[in-house]
Amino acid sequence: MMEFIQEYLPTLIKASYFLAAILFITGLRRMSAPGTARGGIVWAGVGMLIATIATFLLPDMHNMVLILAALVSSTVLAWISGKKVAMTDMPQMVALYNGMGGGSAAFIGAMALFNAVDHLGGCQAGTIIDTPTTHDCLSGVSMIFAIVGVYIGAISLSGSLVAFGKLQGWIDKRFTFPGQNFFNGLVGVGTLALGLYLTQDLNPDYIWIFFGLSLLLGLLMTLPIGGADMPVVISLYNAFTGLAVSFEGFVLQNEAMIIAGMLVGAAGTMLTQHMAKAMNRSLGSVLFGSMGGSGGSAIDGEMKEIEAQDAAIQMAFADRVIVIPGYGLAVAQAQHKLWEMTQILLDRGVDVKFAIHPVAGRMPGHMNVLLAEAGVPYDLIEDMEDINSQFSQTDVALVIGANDVVNPVAKTDPQSPIYGMPVLNVDEAKNSIVIKRGKGTGFAGIQNALFFAENNKMLYGDAQDAIARLIQGLKAL
Ligand code: NAP
Repeated sequence: MMEFIQEYLPTLIKASYFLAAILFITGLRRMSAPGTARGGIVWAGVGMLIATIATFLLPDMHNMVLILAALVSSTVLAWISGKKVAMTDMPQMVALYNGMGGGSAAFIGAMALFNAVDHLGGCQAGTIIDTPTTHDCLSGVSMIFAIVGVYIGAISLSGSLVAFGKLQGWIDKRFTFPGQNFFNGLVGVGTLALGLYLTQDLNPDYIWIFFGLSLLLGLLMTLPIGGADMPVVISLYNAFTGLAVSFEGFVLQNEAMIIAGMLVGAAGTMLTQHMAKAMNRSLGSVLFGSMGGSGGSAIDGEMKEIEAQDAAIQMAFADRVIVIPGYGLAVAQAQHKLWEMTQILLDRGVDVKFAIHPVAGRMPGHMNVLLAEAGVPYDLIEDMEDINSQFSQTDVALVIGANDVVNPVAKTDPQSPIYGMPVLNVDEAKNSIVIKRGKGTGFAGIQNALFFAENNKMLYGDAQDAIARLIQGLKAL
């Protein structure tokens, strides 16, 4: 029996990795639609479980106690934090976990390099020996993969931690100094040159310096980025982490790591492109433009207030209403109340649609998730490209806790930090009503010209409470 198991174990492990890969891909596919997304996460999770169990069967596994202790403690921590985290804090959590992944890949790469140093004497021709089971020596190609994995993984670790700090409000949104891009470029190229030198002289001190400089580069790259660009940065580091894991998968010759890393790398790259396109920003301008913070021309005029009863009348007698949800809806957790209000309007024969901006809220798909949770049918929800031409024929645009994504200065003020970012054309609607608590700015920290427009009214209050008052007003008609 034992012989049988020994003989077929490698095949069993490879088959498990193959099955895990199929589950990852199917899971990702299912995550692309709100209806199947929850199941997709379970499929991918089962894939990861299978890959993890199969890895324990590898013949050269040792340090079991340490591995199990790390696995159990991190599972408990992740479970508790996953349960406790508020939906609005999800981007910080993604940034943090993403950084951990990048850091792990970087440490694996560094360990492979240190192991190779220890066995240099026993390796043929400098560092070149392939012993895939012990990984004591590295082939030339594996060494390059290990070095690149350390570089990208360490950038992702420190960069994601800075992104976490910024989203959490612990780090000031802007950190710039003259000649910053030149200095960052110098550190980036210098670190790469040191990485290249490591292939010739694998000195442990240089490995440490290389690791440290890569971490520093992640800090330097992320500190100047602020405001509305943060979602693009987080998905970029997500792609970095995937690539780093994949490179280290080649070093360890572990198929599951290679495939999972490639999938994360590819998905992260596509998401980065999608987000950058949605904000009309090139990746270069995100990384080297240090956008964010305050700025833009001054806006004249005053904000006019409206009572909930009057707002309810405007909507009840409208032919068409477009609802624009934003971050404030998530903060107030007012999605269920919103759907209740929408149903009253639909029953009155009003044509109601929801307009979704790709970066509304604090994570990709944030608004879709909220609306799906409240049971809003998908055919009432439209993406920005599809609905933007319909605002001019709309009687009332109801903005709920959205700010940056409806700010017309993005179209009109070249001085504005969000100039060029596509926004929802709420300013083109016949009337607009904005629900927010006060005169606070949005994520980018700038004034919103929509709020001062002639045909705009402000309905002040927490979204949950304001919508409850609208419902009351509608029921009283
Ligand atoms: P936003 O620009 O951040 O504005 C949200 C508004 O909601 C604020 O002006 C705030 O005004 C109001 N608000 C907060 N709590 C509220 C409550 N309980 N009830 C009512 N209103 C409330 O939001 P957005 O228009 O959705 O734009 C998203 C921004 O976040 C963009 O700049 C985007 O780039 C950035 N971002 C997006 C992601 C992503 O992946 N989607 C990730 C990170 C950052 P008051 O304080 O006056 O109430």
